[in-house]
Amino acid sequence: MSCEIDIRGLTKRFGANTVLDGIDLCLQPGERVAIIGPSGTGKSTLLRCLNFLDRPDAGVLKLGDLTVDAAKASRAQILALRRRTAFVFQNYGLFANKTARQNLTEGLTVVRGWSAARAEARADEILAQIGLADRGDSYPASLSGGQQQRVGIGRAMALDADLMLLDEPTSALDPEWVGEVLDLIRRIADGRQTMLIVTHEMQFAREIADRIVFMEGGRIVEEGPPAQIFGDPRDARTRAFLRRVG
Ligand code: ADP
Ligand code: MG
Repeated sequence: MSCEIDIRGLTKRFGANTVLDGIDLCLQPGERVAIIGPSGTGKSTLLRCLNFLDRPDAGVLKLGDLTVDAAKASRAQILALRRRTAFVFQNYGLFANKTARQNLTEGLTVVRGWSAARAEARADEILAQIGLADRGDSYPASLSGGQQQRVGIGRAMALDADLMLLDEPTSALDPEWVGEVLDLIRRIADGRQTMLIVTHEMQFAREIADRIVFMEGGRIVEEGPPAQIFGDPRDARTRAFLRRVG
């Protein structure tokens, strides 16, 4: 079994609080993995540590031919990791003073070093794919929550990353916008984008994920195919969690 993305012993502490307690996770190319679990359990921290939005204390991260020892990661390695990952934030994370199109081009010009013209052409392609071809000049404040998050997701799509990280991408949305955002993520998943998605949408996770990972207390308690985790959870903690959210 080859791990396209291999996470070994990932550990993160905030002061005396061990938030990630040795996470091991292997993703196959094109694999879609959903992370579920109670709040405060380290799910966001796990995603954030994978591109050093939070700096892990220990562990080894491997993405393709890039291997990074978290404890002694160089600036260049961190940048390389960030170039291979794309993050979708719960609260969209858009630049308020930039238009939808500029939000899409920013990462391409700044992180990827693309020319403005090339980045704009790519942004227009993405705007069409996310159903916002006519809103490229709009600022986030004039877009609905659903449209803003589609831009947030479009920005991640534009980067064409090896790994897409989505942290509860629908949990800040009014219920009326959840469907269109899930539809967009479903399309990305159908394209076999390798992804790690933290979600509390259990039905959605079941539908799109190849594998479900249940986390509690900074550890992976149980993982398996959706049918097994949802239909026949082995661990009492998984069962208790699923009873609460189900
Ligand atoms: P989840 O996403 O599963 O709800 P988080 O990863 O956000 O959990 O948080 C896990 C734990 O880490 C919580 O106890 C939280 O208070 C703590 N934590 C997260 N970020 C920070 C931070 N920047 N400083 C201190 N503690 C943090
Ligand atoms: Mg979280």
